[in-house]
Amino acid sequence: MAASVMIPRMERQDKRLVDQLRPISFETGIAPNATASVLVTFGRTKVICAVTIEEDVPRWMKVQRVEGGWLTAEYSMLPYSTLDRKRRDITAGKLDGRSSEIQRLIGRSLRAAVDLGKIGQRTIWVDCDVLQADGGTRTASITGASVALAIAVNKLVAQGKLAESPMKRLVSAVSVGMLGGEALLDLCYVEDKDAEVDMNLVMTDRGEFVEVQGSGEEAVFTADQMSRMLELGRKGLEEIAGLQRQVIADADKPDADALEGLS
Ligand code: UDP
Repeated sequence: MAASVMIPRMERQDKRLVDQLRPISFETGIAPNATASVLVTFGRTKVICAVTIEEDVPRWMKVQRVEGGWLTAEYSMLPYSTLDRKRRDITAGKLDGRSSEIQRLIGRSLRAAVDLGKIGQRTIWVDCDVLQADGGTRTASITGASVALAIAVNKLVAQGKLAESPMKRLVSAVSVGMLGGEALLDLCYVEDKDAEVDMNLVMTDRGEFVEVQGSGEEAVFTADQMSRMLELGRKGLEEIAGLQRQVIADADKPDADALEGLS
């Protein structure tokens, strides 16, 4: 006879409900020399996301007469961002595999948000530097960078450098996972390190998927578990998109700082 096992409800280390996000905040304008910048916080995870728009494109684009602009992302974990000091992820000019994978994910996610055909011959540099790592640094990076990108391009529109906004949609990201057989939203490091399944969701504010990265860490997972994780993720992402929209709207209010960093 199949045993019916009572699984005690998971008590999360920080007492959150399974479908509850960590406290999220966005502090804008923290790196004034960038076109726009945001310090994004998901609980103890903190990432500086800076967007710098350069009035030039890579040489190959000019040589091949490619129209439009370019967007490139860089991701780095600062050595003091982890509990035990971490070696720099770039040694002898070579970036480690994890950071390299993450920066490509950030770049792909943001290219889904902006129409590069509408930014003219410009390069958008997206720099994500992790100040404190407590799980979900890639998803916090995408979420924060998406806000910084929207604020940066809005500045160009306000300055009359762009006739219309090149933003196609808002992109947000969050992690979900399975721990102790339970689906959890927005895992912190202690949950992430023991999770049976670790998944990163990148979605638009219209409920479309941009990217899904998921793996069973030496485990397998069922379609039902996947549906449950997606359900938690979608709910969390709706909440995150609401916060992002608010921060972008506040940053766009005309004030003395509106053109900061672009002179
Ligand atoms: N981490 C760490 N050192 C590393 C890589 C990761 O301490 O070199 C921790 C950090 O807290 C990170 C977490 O492990 O947030 C999960 O890492 P993962 O590669 O899953 O990426 P993330 O969840 O940060 O996007």
